[in-house]
Parts: sequence; C-alpha cells; structure tokens
Amino acid sequence: MYKSALFPNVLVDSYGRQIDYIRLSITDRCDFRCVYCMTEEMTFLAREDVLSLEEYSRLVKVFVELGVRKVRITGGEPLMRKNALQLFEAIGRLPGLNELVITTNGSQLEQQAYALKQAGVKRVNISLDSLNATRFRKITRVGDLDKVLRGIAVAKQVGFEGIKLNSLLMRGINDDEALDLAAFAISQDLDISFIEEMPLGAVLHSRHASYVSNEQTLTLLRARYDLIASTATSGGPARYWQVPNKKTKIGFISPHSHNFCESCNRIRISCQGELHLCLGQENSINLRAMLRGHPHDDAPLKQAIIDSIQVKPKGHDFDLNRATPAVIRFMSHTGG
Ligand code: SAM
Ligand code: SF4
Repeated sequence: MYKSALFPNVLVDSYGRQIDYIRLSITDRCDFRCVYCMTEEMTFLAREDVLSLEEYSRLVKVFVELGVRKVRITGGEPLMRKNALQLFEAIGRLPGLNELVITTNGSQLEQQAYALKQAGVKRVNISLDSLNATRFRKITRVGDLDKVLRGIAVAKQVGFEGIKLNSLLMRGINDDEALDLAAFAISQDLDISFIEEMPLGAVLHSRHASYVSNEQTLTLLRARYDLIASTATSGGPARYWQVPNKKTKIGFISPHSHNFCESCNRIRISCQGELHLCLGQENSINLRAMLRGHPHDDAPLKQAIIDSIQVKPKGHDFDLNRATPAVIRFMSHTGG
C-alpha cells in the first residue's frame, strides 16, 4: 500500500496495531428499518448533536494528516444525509488519502452513483439480505427491492473499482437464501460478504435464536462451489474465498466464530463525533467537544486522537447468551 511521506502514520496503539482506516457515520437516520439494526420507532438525534458536514470534513482531514489512508462513509444511511455529496467531494480531494469508500443500503444509488464516482469514491458496499421482494420488505420493514436492484445496476455501469454485497442471514427468516445470494453475486460479477448478526442495541427478536454461524454458511457454499481460500485481507473481520473461474470473492465477517481483533487496523466515529476504538466495547472519546472547543486550531484535536489510540482495547466483548447486550448503541449510531 502507498504510504504518504507527507503524513507518516503516528496512530499506533499500545499493542503495536497501526490504525490507518476510519469508518465514519454521517447520520443515524435511515430510510429503512432493518429488523436486526433498528426498532420500528427509533428516536433519532437532534440536528445540533450531529456533526455538520464541515466538522466531518475537518475531522477526516486531521485523521489523514495523522496517517489514515482509508475512509469508509457509513451511517444510518449515508446517502440520506442532506448534501452528503459535498462531503464526499471534500474528502475525495484530500492529499494522502488512498481510498474513499461507502457502505449503503442502495436505495439512493440509482440517482447518486455517478456523482459518487466523480467525487472519488472507489468502492461501494451495498447491503442486500434477500432477493425476494416480500421478504426484503419484511426484513427492512419499508424497503423496495427493485429500487435497490436498480441502484446496483447503475453502480455497475458507473465503473467503481469494486462493488461488494453485504448479506446478513437470520435463522428462519432468510438463511435459506445463502446460495441464491451467492449465485446472484456471481452472475453480476460482484463480491459478497456474509455478516454474522452482532448484539448491538436491543431489538424485538432474540439474537441468539436468529444467529446463523458463518461456518454453517461456508459449509453450504463449499458443497456447491470449489471455493479457494484467498489471501486477500482487509485487516478486519472478513475472510475471503475465491469462486473458481469467476470474478467473485465470497467473504465471511465473523465476529463470533473468528476473533479478528489482533489485526484490527480501524476505528469508528459516530455521527456525533464519538471516537469508538472498538465496535464491541462501550468506551468512546468525545471529539465533537474538541472540534467545537477549538474551531481554529487542530493541535488539541490531534493530540486527543493520538492519546486515545493508546487506550484502544485488545478485543471485543460479544456474547450472544447475555440477557442484555454488552453494547447498548445500535449499529446505525456507530456506523457499520
Ligand atoms: N445503511 C447502510 C447499509 O445498510 O449498508 C450503512 C449502515 S448499516 C448499519 C451497515 C451494515 O451494518 C449493514 O450491512 C448491516 O447489515 C450491518 N448491520 C446492522 N446491524 C447489524 C447487527 N446488529 N449485526 C451485524 N451487522 C449489522
Ligand atoms: Fe438502515 Fe443500514 Fe440499519 Fe438497515 S442496516 S436500518 S439500511 S442503517
């Protein structure tokens, strides 16, 4: 990977892990209400509690100056944030940044994919949990499958360097679609990752009952395809397999069955500017106060970030058997 001599990486934690990847949530709002992610009646943050686009832009610039090379914009649904494109354009222009990527539910891609590509977005992750319109509606509560499929088609035409589908399987709801989702990805020359459900926030169903292990999904897929273990790694929780003679890689994001913490290279920033050093731990550092308290001087903000990296926990703390989740916040708040 290209290393900028201009901005050497100073973000190394106490376990020697180099942090060069941030995931930034730019809204907690969403046009979907996926059953594993949100409740039907969500209370969203007040506008003044969420960072402005200028504040996100400043924050990302500071992180890049500290050595971050990859930025993923997420949410909530990032494309529901008003004028989000301006932020993508500002981040896309930052010297020293190698990769600007987005995670989206795909509902706005039909209209926005071209502008995102122009702004410098290299890769797009699109969530897709079902190919059956009725079931898709049931999982997302309000989503329109056709709209998302049209968004995927436009994203393909636009020519991003990579498009990956993210599919979360739930027992008794869509776990019978693993093969169909993989076949769809292969037919479209897209990558696909299967995500294990994480106990983030209290939802209506039992996380334990709905949990589908990626081991099980992998076994199913290997019975159909001669998958070849891939050396590709994102430094995160995903393990990849190549489908022979096809473009598609199949990934498995397995926080439960595979402990990925030792190679963790990432941190998350919530839409309120809380720096979460680990998705599976509650502790966070309030960067909004630093941003607003020092509007014209980045030095205190930089120091706070450097100091906080030193307390990045060794690993996550997920346990499906717990009656209440270890992590109270929803994925839509911290950013998936
Ligand atoms: N709205 C966008 C989307 O759906 O892609 C971006 C944000 S969403 C929170 C990012 C990813 O988090 C999605 O792929 C979703 O499936 C995943 N996600 C949400 N809640 C989750 C949970 N409890 N466990 C595991 N993954 C979750
Ligand atoms: Fe919205 Fe994404 Fe959460 Fe679904 S997973 S409710 S699309 S933020």
